[in-house]
Amino acid sequence: MNDRSTTDVPVRVRFAPSPTGFLHVGNVRTALFNWLFARYHKGTFLLRIEDTDAERSETQYEKQLLEDLRWLGLEWNEGIGLGGDYGPYRQSDRYEVYQKYAGQLLDEDKAFPCFCTERELEEVRQQQMDRNETPRYSGKCRHLTPEELEARRESGVPSTLRLRVRPGTVGFDDLVFGRVEIETSQISDPILLRSDGSPTYNFCCVVDDLLMKISHVIRGEGHLSNTHRQILIYEALGAAVPQFAHLSTILGPDGQKLSKRHGATSVREFQVQGYLPEALGNYLALLGWSPSEDGKEMMSLGEIAAEFNLTRIQKSPAIFDGKKLDWMNRSYVSQTADDVLTDLSKAFFIEAGLIPPDADARILDWQQRVIALIKTRVDHLDQLPAEAAIIYGLDPDAPQLDEEAAEILGTPEGKAVASEFTRLVDAVADLTPESYRGMVSEVKSTTGQKGRTLFHSIRAALTGRGSGPDLEKLILLYEEGSRLPLPRKVLSCRERLHVILGSI
Ligand code: GLU
Repeated sequence: MNDRSTTDVPVRVRFAPSPTGFLHVGNVRTALFNWLFARYHKGTFLLRIEDTDAERSETQYEKQLLEDLRWLGLEWNEGIGLGGDYGPYRQSDRYEVYQKYAGQLLDEDKAFPCFCTERELEEVRQQQMDRNETPRYSGKCRHLTPEELEARRESGVPSTLRLRVRPGTVGFDDLVFGRVEIETSQISDPILLRSDGSPTYNFCCVVDDLLMKISHVIRGEGHLSNTHRQILIYEALGAAVPQFAHLSTILGPDGQKLSKRHGATSVREFQVQGYLPEALGNYLALLGWSPSEDGKEMMSLGEIAAEFNLTRIQKSPAIFDGKKLDWMNRSYVSQTADDVLTDLSKAFFIEAGLIPPDADARILDWQQRVIALIKTRVDHLDQLPAEAAIIYGLDPDAPQLDEEAAEILGTPEGKAVASEFTRLVDAVADLTPESYRGMVSEVKSTTGQKGRTLFHSIRAALTGRGSGPDLEKLILLYEEGSRLPLPRKVLSCRERLHVILGSI
């Protein structure tokens, strides 16, 4: 299929977040698609901060935003923190630029001052709504005579600056949604400067996209209606319009707009829960885009970038399915090297009080083998300490056996196996996988038990559980762990056997 988005101009795209909260799924998908598109076309991915809403913008959010993008591997090659030929890249540092263009539009009579107060505008809005009309600006100050203008200015009434919207239709060929056209009579003359002189989003966005030579504007579907206004501003400035691609809204599995009710929605939350950036990036890329190979899902961002063009973007809403993300993250976790996972999950174990903050190499080496044993059992890394309860979790004062273990150890055969095994363990200095194997044969011949009864009883007596990871590996970890200076003592095999036997 022909990729209509490919043009002769160098590809320059931007992610332009407003630092008014944590980066959420919808926004980060926009960032990702811009990044992928830039990569695919070997273009520039630029980061601009849109902080014109001074009241809601916060530096801490800006900082977090940059960290989140870097964590996901979405490095930008121009903009905030890096500079470039078209800076500054934070809108609050660009007010002079906007004033200049506002002045130009006013001089050319393409914009006009509007003296209507909030109250007047509200009254008109109300009347229009009472008549079942779409509320829009009445055009009251569009045609003030020079005398009226002068008089209002002299009386000191504050004014906004509005774009003089031309009659006719305004439209564009969206690269995802196709032709989108409306009558300009449906649009209020957009405010470019507020009465305090501060510029509005639509105005800043156009001036910046223009000056920063943005070739493609890729952003959320929610901005579709802004695009018409923005195109009228481009026209007024006598500038060429970039190409637009709007990304469909992301919904929860219940078909409702994705929100807190659906669980974690910000990058930060996913990070805190121990999702891997590779998994989150891979999952997000599939929200509305699909690779050419049917059914292929596990892909690195590099692989996705190599075939990322806009023709494969769907315009129907994308569904964010946390279960699918969990499945994907689980696969990435199992594929991640044990030492890397040990490092990534260290903080979770320290917080759970299972390893000391200054864990030495011996502890970390042992911990790595713990991780290796349980890593395939979690969806995200914050679940590892709970899963490691099989190693750390036996309370000498209140040993908890699971149902299966209690059942098997409750039978005379199970009890006999457990006691005989404990007797043998008591008699050796050190339990190793080799000595363990010898003991199993001995228990087998002494008790006459074999198969499931034999092995399950031993497992239950050692771990308190009916099933779990490889027993020989567990034995080694119990023995070595019991000799390490850990904040919560790990019981040796012998200690475990006595605690569990004593409880049945
Ligand atoms: N600051 C806008 C937002 O966060 C960006 C819109 C755009 O990409 O033009 O929604």
